[in-house]
Amino acid sequence: MLEFTDKGIFCPRADVYIDPWKPVKSAIITHGHSDHARMGNGHYICHMETIPILRLRLGLDISIQGLDYNRTITKNGVRISLHPAGHIIGSAQVRLEYKGEIWVVSGDYKLMADGLSVPFEPVRCHHFITESTFGLPIYNFPHTEQVYSGINQWWKQNAWEGVNSVVIAYALGKSQSILHHLDLDIGDVFLHGAVANVNDVFNAEGYNFPGVRVTPEIDRKSIKGAIILAPPSALSTPWISKFSPSRKAMCSGWMQLRGARRRSGVDRGFVLSDHCDWTQLNEAVLATGAENIYVTHGYQNTFAKWLTDRYQLNAIEIKTQFEPATADLE
Ligand SMILES: [Zn+2]
Ligand SMILES: [Zn+2]
Repeated sequence: MLEFTDKGIFCPRADVYIDPWKPVKSAIITHGHSDHARMGNGHYICHMETIPILRLRLGLDISIQGLDYNRTITKNGVRISLHPAGHIIGSAQVRLEYKGEIWVVSGDYKLMADGLSVPFEPVRCHHFITESTFGLPIYNFPHTEQVYSGINQWWKQNAWEGVNSVVIAYALGKSQSILHHLDLDIGDVFLHGAVANVNDVFNAEGYNFPGVRVTPEIDRKSIKGAIILAPPSALSTPWISKFSPSRKAMCSGWMQLRGARRRSGVDRGFVLSDHCDWTQLNEAVLATGAENIYVTHGYQNTFAKWLTDRYQLNAIEIKTQFEPATADLE
């Protein structure tokens, strides 16, 4: 029912693409990250909570339809529904059913709760398309609650020493989950514009993320003991150096590798990811009951071979143009 084309994952019968990377007439978007939600499509279908994100990133004038989780629409006999992916707010897996055959495109997803996005729900299917960003056994993430409390402890210690804490995290998704878990008694919270823009959108929808946008009027040298959230692109820019004295921490699944932290030049790494680690990937794939697995961005080759050898699944590697997650994008 689904084909892998140079424009993206395609359902010919319903004439719809999922997360296409070239402009198409009709696109279902799993979530708002830029490698999945691109410009130029005629019509967008996504989860209700992804609508304001797409409008922020792609423009207010796009044609867009929002769906709640588990609500089915039908296109030329294909039943299409969205299901929680647990990746970021509004992220969805796409389920397509035609004449009893069921495909699920998971997009990006994780099983570990972040306290914000609706938790991942396994969807039974025959064909399952999975990412494999951390599809190696070395990736074994600590429990998120433990990481959030580690961030608070680090901030508290820095604040006590009169030092600012700069946290580097992706602006959409990870920043909000960190903000949601901060102990606001420790000190003030400041936001880089990229994070503040995303927060403004969510806060207008009824969320309540803390933090003050850093504007040119704010004297950064007068800030002490605060926590500052900024995206990876801000790392090693003058913007950050003006908060000194400061310590920097990077929040990413890649922080599990010592070398990655050293190379990024931060003082501290927190292993925090919006993706599955090895255990979660295995658990998710098995929970679908699918016999046919298509492995996309990440360690496609290795993970597909593992699924074939270990569980006798019909797993194959699929080359997609979803950007391989780097320390910056993950
Ligand atoms: Zn993503
Ligand atoms: Zn992705």
